[in-house]
Amino acid sequence: MPEPAESVLATRSVTNSDAAGLLFKALAFASEKHRNQRRKDADASPYINHPIALANVLANEAGVNDTDVLCAAILHDTVEDTETSYDELVATFGLKIADIVMEVTDDKSLHWTERKEAQVNHAPHISREAKLVKLADKICNLRDMLACPPANWKIERRVAYFHWAARVVEGMRGTNASMETIFDALFSQHEGMT
Ligand code: ZN
Repeated sequence: MPEPAESVLATRSVTNSDAAGLLFKALAFASEKHRNQRRKDADASPYINHPIALANVLANEAGVNDTDVLCAAILHDTVEDTETSYDELVATFGLKIADIVMEVTDDKSLHWTERKEAQVNHAPHISREAKLVKLADKICNLRDMLACPPANWKIERRVAYFHWAARVVEGMRGTNASMETIFDALFSQHEGMT
C-alpha cells in the first residue's frame, strides 16, 4: 500500500524538520548566551560543551527524543548562569520549554550550601521532563569530575560532590532506567579517584 506509507513518511519528515529547527534555534541561542564563559576544568573548556553534552546523553544514551526536553537541556543553564530571563525563554521557545528550564534553575538568592540542599529537596517534586534534564546534568557533571576535574578542587570536595549528586538522583529514581544505570556506574568510580 504505497499511499499510506508515503503519507506517513511525509508527516514524519515535517515533524523532524520542525524538531531540527527548534534544536538549532536552542543551540544558537545558548551558544550566544554562553559565548564568554568557560567551564571550571583545568583546560577551561568552552561552556557550551556542557549543555551539548546533556542533549547528547538524552538523545543517544537515554533514548529521549522529546524535542522540548532536548531543547530545555541545551538551555538549562541560561537563566542560572547568563543574563537570560524567563520571559525571554517564553517568547523565544514557548511556555513548555521555558518552564522545564525554570524547574532545573537554582535560586541564586540562596547561599551555595542552601542551593545544593534545595536541589535534594526539590528533585522528587519536579516534572518528569525536568527530571530527565537533571539526570543528564548529573551524569555529565560526574563524567567531567572524573575526566577533567576543576583545577582547585581537592579530592575530599570531589568525593563530597559525588555523594551530593547521588542524593539528588535518589529522589528521581524510576524516571529513566538507562540514565540511572549510567549514573550508578559513574558514582561507583569515585572510590578510585585520586
Ligand atoms: Zn548543567
